[in-house]
Amino acid sequence: MRCPYCREDDSRVLDSRTADEGAAIRRRRECQSCGRRFTTAETAVLSVTKRSGVSEPFSRAKVINGVRKACQGRPVSDDDLALLAQRVEDAVRATGAAEVPAGEVGVAILGPLRDLDEVAYLRFASVYRSFDSLEDFEAEIALLRTEASLAATDSTSPDPDSTSDFATAKDSASADVDA
Ligand SMILES: [Zn+2]
Repeated sequence: MRCPYCREDDSRVLDSRTADEGAAIRRRRECQSCGRRFTTAETAVLSVTKRSGVSEPFSRAKVINGVRKACQGRPVSDDDLALLAQRVEDAVRATGAAEVPAGEVGVAILGPLRDLDEVAYLRFASVYRSFDSLEDFEAEIALLRTEASLAATDSTSPDPDSTSDFATAKDSASADVDA
């Protein structure tokens, strides 16, 4: 392993430990030439199998390239895209498989992209899931609307306790007027 400081090839492992709940091994190394210490990480290579049967290492850059076009003109920053790619990688790695079909990576993109920007999501989904009619868009938009209104209802639905408090306050107020 080449020293990142002096670029000598000769380094010695001082310590190895597992990290990321066993998904990685980190090694503390010492350069035999300049004596400086550095850490290396070892993780299993996650392979993506394309439809052609060719495998290639999972790449966050490819995920970002895949959604960048759908995000054109949308308020989506490079940081947003980096975070999305991280979420996609986490989701794919969480399946525990060393090799995943490319389609699975596409599916893993849909959720985080929808959270990020619904218009970009619709653009991406229309290509990825081959929408071929207005009905396909309408169905997807209807689904987004339903979920959005459910979320809105959840956050604004009155707390039953506060409603009864209000009723009680009103009752006593009108009682005052009557008296
Ligand atoms: Zn060195």
